[in-house]
Amino acid sequence: MSTDLIGQVVADARRAFDSGGTRSYEWRLGQLRALHTMIEDNSDVILAALKADLGKPMFEAWAAEIGVALRDLKETMRALKGWMKPEKVSTPLVTQPGSSRLYKDPLGVVLIIAPWNYPFNLVITPLMGAIAAGNAAVIKPSEISSNTSKMIADLLPRYVDNDAIKVVEGAIPETTALLAERFDHIFYTGNGHVARIIMAAAAKHLTPVTLELGGKSPVYINKSADLKTTARRVAWGKFTNAGQTCIAPDYILVDGEIHDAFLEHLRAAIDGFYGRNPQQTDSYARIVSDRHHQRLSRLLANQDAVIGGQADPADRYIAPTVLQNVAPDSPVMCEEIFGPILPVLSVDGIDAAIRFINGRDKPLALYVFTGDDDVAEAILSRTSSGGATINHVMLHYAVSSLPFGGVGESGMGAYHGQASFDTFTHTKSVLKKPFMVDPSIMYPPYNETKEKWLRRLL
Ligand code: NAD
Repeated sequence: MSTDLIGQVVADARRAFDSGGTRSYEWRLGQLRALHTMIEDNSDVILAALKADLGKPMFEAWAAEIGVALRDLKETMRALKGWMKPEKVSTPLVTQPGSSRLYKDPLGVVLIIAPWNYPFNLVITPLMGAIAAGNAAVIKPSEISSNTSKMIADLLPRYVDNDAIKVVEGAIPETTALLAERFDHIFYTGNGHVARIIMAAAAKHLTPVTLELGGKSPVYINKSADLKTTARRVAWGKFTNAGQTCIAPDYILVDGEIHDAFLEHLRAAIDGFYGRNPQQTDSYARIVSDRHHQRLSRLLANQDAVIGGQADPADRYIAPTVLQNVAPDSPVMCEEIFGPILPVLSVDGIDAAIRFINGRDKPLALYVFTGDDDVAEAILSRTSSGGATINHVMLHYAVSSLPFGGVGESGMGAYHGQASFDTFTHTKSVLKKPFMVDPSIMYPPYNETKEKWLRRLL
């Protein structure tokens, strides 16, 4: 889209919001239903776009992009009326008689900027929150997953209210033009560098932001863990979508005495999933772009790959790779890997693991594998992360009653389930008083008796 037209797109969305149409329960439910129908009618088209962008295996694409969205839509439609209802809260004696309520107001026109790694779901999931809360929305899919971006731009207008829900395709110039406009909320998913650009632009209009970012999500494996199951779960989480998942295990800290045994189980798990030549299986994705393939190849250079390590730039393929003897200050340990490379580092017990984790940015997710609840509690209570799963990886993301988001460098704000509705809602505090009782105690002229009552009542 030409950047000259972007101001008009946002103005049109604002006109739609100002008309009041998006506020009703019926509009919200109708739009959520339309999204559901759109996904059901077009799952083949969606899967094809994801295959073209990322070589996503059908199973992974259906589970993480389509299935989760359909389930979340159903849950949102079921709960919507209850979420929208003004909530009665207590009223203290001093403001009696009266009643206090929390009204759930839409924010207005919101901007949703999505990344390329789950390029469909990370548009649809925030959008359903924005719609549920009664907002107009402008969506900017990632230009890097260009097939999915085009598919979204083609499909959405055929199903949803075109006045209130807009898609702007494009890259940095289009996003920059969008960011010059005034929005009532910006929901950004992506990396911390761009997040700073988003926040600076939002500050000009005092626009609140949700920043869903990434980082290095660690896994600590305690000697009490069931190693076979741990290895399968870690390998699944790391190599799904070829490691291009914001909450993928980034690196492993494993108790020294089980390091070698864990690597053997990991090798067995990877062989079992992908066979001897993972490049030939349909169950393994590809790296999204040549640039990212080159970045990952640089991270692999001069490392000790105990499993995998092969790369084929023409096919944007990198084998499921496990690194050993990794220096904690090597490049692969200094940036989010975001690819199928898994460094495994030995640690000397739980205190050393906690020191290692706390010496780095607060991660988006943290994983502990242990048969001992005290170990899990110690890790959780002495570290800070956006979320955590114990004895598995990534699955807390799929629990819609658990708000999903980061902390510190991994982001701010959260969504999923009711948290999505809340993110796109202003909770307006309202006290309602009757006319009939109007004690003069609060009005001038003040005197000692009034003051005494005031001290007693407050
Ligand atoms: P990306 O390159 O697709 O960028 C994300 C969005 O930012 C795109 O829509 C892009 O057009 C826009 N953008 C890029 N440069 C810009 C600029 N200079 N000015 C304005 N807008 C710009 O995706 P990415 O950032 O490479 O995504 C990967 C990152 O996202 C990883 O760090 C990952 O951990 C994180 N991520 C987080 C979550 C989460 O839910 N927390 C989910 C997925 C990905």
